Amino acid sequence: MTSGGGDAPNQRIALRWGAATHAGIVRPVNQDAVLAGPTIFAVADGMGGHAAGDVASSLAIATLAHAVGDAEFLPASAVVSAVREANDLIIAEAYRDGAVAGMGTTLALVAALGDDRLAGLLVLNIGDSRIYRFGSDDSSLVQLSVDHSVVAELVAAGDIDEAAAATHPDRNAITRALGIDDEVDLDMWQFDPVMGDRFVVCSDGLVREVSDEAIAHRLAAGDPATVVAERLLEDALAAGASDNVSVVVLDLVADDHDPAIEVGAGDTRPVEAGDTRPRSGR
Ligand code: MG
Repeated sequence: MTSGGGDAPNQRIALRWGAATHAGIVRPVNQDAVLAGPTIFAVADGMGGHAAGDVASSLAIATLAHAVGDAEFLPASAVVSAVREANDLIIAEAYRDGAVAGMGTTLALVAALGDDRLAGLLVLNIGDSRIYRFGSDDSSLVQLSVDHSVVAELVAAGDIDEAAAATHPDRNAITRALGIDDEVDLDMWQFDPVMGDRFVVCSDGLVREVSDEAIAHRLAAGDPATVVAERLLEDALAAGASDNVSVVVLDLVADDHDPAIEVGAGDTRPVEAGDTRPRSGR
């Protein structure tokens, strides 16, 4: 893992992230659950009344976290397998405990794909939580995921416009969720990692209160991911936060610990926990 002679290798990309979740102003319980790195960046928005939605979203996130284990990167197949396992576990739990029958959850995630380095990003969605990309090249915010909701289908069919969707009586109805059917019907896309790109994974509680323009404005300010996540949550709370609010911000940045950079520049690698070698001992 040294640069060797000749051409300098492409600089490695590192991931930086921040996350925030909150019950909001109106709801007594936060039924959203969040997984913030180091490999999967996910939001699950549970449904099913009282404690049930909480159980479904927590099960989904815990299953993903367990699947990641110590892996820094995963193959896409492992992520999809974990999502299917989460679906099975939610269905099994609803069957076992009648008190949570009918529960389900959305799931939206970005996963870091690769073997020993970041090779791609998997974007995966079930339900109406969202994934956005904020491009470093043109500062544009693009919704990557498609909402699996009644109103999104009506908008796509041209029956109603976005303004009507926001107040439609079926605006809370989603058409796909984890924990409903044995077969998981998910959307997914793969992207090449681009240095400087930012991703936002969020529940509908954010986008109901904060416009895409306002989200883009926060991302364009250039604050670290941790700060942007907190600011977006504050924006949603200030707007009334009638639903639970969750947001994960993921940044693709230059890897400060890139061995290719360290050659000739001194050893800037921090001593990791459990690594007792003196820094000069490399
Ligand atoms: Mg919600």
